[in-house]
Amino acid sequence: MKTIDRSFINGEFKPTRGTKLFDLYDPSTAEIIGRTVLGDELDMLDAIGSAREAFKTFSTTSVAERGEMLLRLHEALEKREDALVETAILEYGSPVTATVGRTRAAANAFLEARETLLDYPLEMKAGKKLVVMEPVGVVGAITPFNADYGHICGKLAPAIAAGCTVVVKPSENNGLETELLCRCIQEADIPPGVVNVVEGRGGELGPILCGHPDVAMINFTGSTRVGKEIAALGAGTMKRFCLELGGKSPNIILDDADIDKAAALALVIGFSNSGQACHAGTRLLVPKKRLDEVEASLKRAVTKLKIGHLRDADSFIGPLVSRKQFDTVQSYIRSGLDEGAELLAGGPGHPEGLGGYYARPTIFTKVSPSMRIAREEIFGPVIALMAYEDEEQAVEMANDTVYGLAAFVSSADPDRAVRIGRRIRAGMVVVNDTIGAVVAGPAAPLGGMKESGLGRAGGRWGLEAYLEPKVIA
Ligand code: NAD
Repeated sequence: MKTIDRSFINGEFKPTRGTKLFDLYDPSTAEIIGRTVLGDELDMLDAIGSAREAFKTFSTTSVAERGEMLLRLHEALEKREDALVETAILEYGSPVTATVGRTRAAANAFLEARETLLDYPLEMKAGKKLVVMEPVGVVGAITPFNADYGHICGKLAPAIAAGCTVVVKPSENNGLETELLCRCIQEADIPPGVVNVVEGRGGELGPILCGHPDVAMINFTGSTRVGKEIAALGAGTMKRFCLELGGKSPNIILDDADIDKAAALALVIGFSNSGQACHAGTRLLVPKKRLDEVEASLKRAVTKLKIGHLRDADSFIGPLVSRKQFDTVQSYIRSGLDEGAELLAGGPGHPEGLGGYYARPTIFTKVSPSMRIAREEIFGPVIALMAYEDEEQAVEMANDTVYGLAAFVSSADPDRAVRIGRRIRAGMVVVNDTIGAVVAGPAAPLGGMKESGLGRAGGRWGLEAYLEPKVIA
């Protein structure tokens, strides 16, 4: 059993000064596989100080130098791909094919940021005035548990491209993954202090990072609840923010859609990353006149999803990350039943033959828009199916949410689907496909409207989040 008792500060693994412990579990079995010594205020202050000092010189490096560093980071992750994948399967419980995909995407984030940087005019003219795009400063990056490498690298890559230095506060659930990632970063030979990583509880380290006057920006991915706390914590020192928050995305099946195709797609959209995906299309909106067909098709399709057997290439659903997440999902399933929704598939408890934190992929039908399972983000494999009368009502129901992260539309007529997509208040709308269509290059802006966030990641939009325009006249 491994104990993570070092923080990555100023290019070195330094003994963590905090004393509290956090147990790490294999979510497939609920057995303890490791332990993290959580950092405390002194570790966090040390990391912020190191990032502040490094910023003085790192912010003056050339585009070519930073481009080289981004290449080295990409190569360092590529070199350790097998170990990164194995660690994420063990600690996070995600099936191998998806884990390989996410690990490669994390490594490729550095290439994408490099390409964007090489194309981006860091100086431009506004009439006779000179406009200079400067790195914003020290960035606090706070990440969730559902794609450790991807979230950390997705923030480091544009920050480094811009010339910023970073203090990362990763999710406490990913200690083994984060430690291995730090080894890759160390091997990439980035100047000391450019990347610093401190493990710890969000409630304890978050306020230090978010309130510190030497930190210019907070880039946070996580729940809307914590996002709001962070915005309040950072307001006193007028932080810049990029907030990628929760979602409850609608997936509209239009009346002209191929029902079997749309139903199979709905399961991928709703259950990808074992339902622990911010963009998951968990509100399935179905035309009343085709409801029976959709229900029958979903019932057939769900039996074909492979659960468990995480190292099999065709495995699709793994366990939830933790006991806490498992309990949350169970309580939502019970609330759906209590509020009168009907089970089309799944339900409470574990899938047959599996223990740990595995939940049953669950589809509710006869859901009304006021039920909790229709309104609140569950972050587990639970789909709520609701029927609509006509296109107008479908759009209204899709927009009836505080969230605005993603939306999905299935139709035989892509132009019709795009017309509807234009009316949905969401940062990303996908037609006849999964979120992969949005993430695939060339880079596009990724992020949410309404309470799903502030700012965008990806491409030049993502780079600009780390830059401040300055005019010299
Ligand atoms: P969370 O909000 O509970 O925690 C996220 C991070 O914030 C963790 O590192 C946690 O330790 C830290 N944190 C907690 N309290 C804090 C505080 N007071 N101050 C500062 N930091 C604090 O989220 P989670 O459970 O790890 O992840 C699931 C959530 O993340 C879901 O809501 C999901 O939608 C969201 N998410 C959003 C996106 C996106 O791109 N929009 C992507 C992935 C996940």
